[in-house]
Amino acid sequence: MVVGYDLPSSLLAVQLAEEHHDVWAAVGIHPHDAASFDAATADQVAVLLGHEKVVAVGEIGLDFFREHSPSEVQQDALVRQLKLAANAGLPVIFHCRNAYPELISVLREVGAPEGIMHCWAGTLDEAERVVEMGLHLGIGGVVTFKNADALREVVRWAPGVRLVLETDAPYLAPAPMRGKQNEPALIVHVAAKVAEIRGRLIEEVALQTSRNASYLFSRMELRLEF
Ligand SMILES: [Zn+2]
Repeated sequence: MVVGYDLPSSLLAVQLAEEHHDVWAAVGIHPHDAASFDAATADQVAVLLGHEKVVAVGEIGLDFFREHSPSEVQQDALVRQLKLAANAGLPVIFHCRNAYPELISVLREVGAPEGIMHCWAGTLDEAERVVEMGLHLGIGGVVTFKNADALREVVRWAPGVRLVLETDAPYLAPAPMRGKQNEPALIVHVAAKVAEIRGRLIEEVALQTSRNASYLFSRMELRLEF
């Protein structure tokens, strides 16, 4: 899955998905770029959502850590893109940093779509609340980091049907490749750590999380072979 963060990167994601059979795209305007979400951009995103290789809206959400766009601008872009997702009948990939209470309250207000909280970094209590809303937790390389006990606690607790794996490449390469450029192949280290935490075989984790992804991204044609 190749995920956009503004209009040019969303167009590139769609182009890559067109060129490669096993690549799918998500299209959306990241909270950092929320100020660029004007009417013309919204129209172009809406058109892209009709593309057969576009399986989700994202990354969209709230980021109060860097606050590259003012919080009310971020909130407005989020709510408008949630409407686009609902109109297109597509799930959503959420980016959230230092804003879990605010994002949860927006979703309570407007209704949570199906989707993923990508690179989950919230508390166990917040994880319980988003899982209750029907959302999935995206688990990436951070789960292998030494200081990530709180995340491992969430991974131990989470219902298997609510977990998906991700890379966030080129960022957040898992141990033992921490600090290197991340790439899809390294997801195996994430799967191994999740399996260890949950006391499962890596094959079981691979099958369940791939199945979860294929149910969630219903436009994807995933071949699950193990
Ligand atoms: Zn993100």
